[in-house]
Amino acid sequence: MDSAIVLAMIREIVLLGSGGGRVVTIRQERRTGGLALIIDKMIFVMDPGPGSIFFFNQMGLNPFLVKGVLISHRHPDHYSDAEIYIEAATRGASMKRGLLAGARSVLETVEGMGYPAISDYHKRLPELVAPMSSGDSIVYDGIKINALKSFHSDPYAIGFRLDDGKHSISYFSDTKFSEEIARGAECPDLLILSVLRPGNLKFPGHLCTDDAIRVIGLISPRRVLITHFGSRMIKASPEKEAERIEKSTGISTIAATDGMKIKLSGAFTPLDLYTGGKGEP
Ligand SMILES: [Zn+2]
Ligand SMILES: [Zn+2]
Repeated sequence: MDSAIVLAMIREIVLLGSGGGRVVTIRQERRTGGLALIIDKMIFVMDPGPGSIFFFNQMGLNPFLVKGVLISHRHPDHYSDAEIYIEAATRGASMKRGLLAGARSVLETVEGMGYPAISDYHKRLPELVAPMSSGDSIVYDGIKINALKSFHSDPYAIGFRLDDGKHSISYFSDTKFSEEIARGAECPDLLILSVLRPGNLKFPGHLCTDDAIRVIGLISPRRVLITHFGSRMIKASPEKEAERIEKSTGISTIAATDGMKIKLSGAFTPLDLYTGGKGEP
């Protein structure tokens, strides 16, 4: 996209959780709320798992500024709080507003996964509902969203590439390593990888640290954020794993912590995004 037609700018990423996988989600060893993207005066939420809306409010973010809900696949650590955010985006289900984009298994009845994660009632609320497969692309409120290939136990799982014309983010949730996932994800300002396990500890359908190093080699991002940590990763220290990634790839890498904020642009976050708990629309 040409920078002359920038309509919105991704300012900041807020970690509503750095945990993931079944055990960490069940035990809440870390928060499992996914990510919030602060885009000027609206917010996109990605993969909101259990506790997401609670942590969102606890951090003082204004839920009525949510305008996009993006869901990578049909596992509850990625979608459980999505319907609440849709209700927030539509001002308590009172108006047609916002974007709901997700894997087909999240939004449609598909073979092998059964009924969608999101109810018909909630799918009628947003302004745009976009079931996406890898290669699909939409533009909403100045943000271009491409679906990236993933390989997971939900065969419809996707990653997301977001582009505001100035900044780009490539985001992978649960996927196994494959050279194919790099297609369309190359050279982002920030690569967000879900790294469930440390070292070379493989688990089907997920990345370990060694896999992440190979993915980064293929994608050549400017910076890397690792998140979605499982129990073994938490025990091994995500910070140490991030250090190992940085040493091996030469690319600046940071490990997510709950509540972490990462700036993408130099500008400050508009203060009215944060309600201090009032949360009026
Ligand atoms: Zn997961
Ligand atoms: Zn999953």
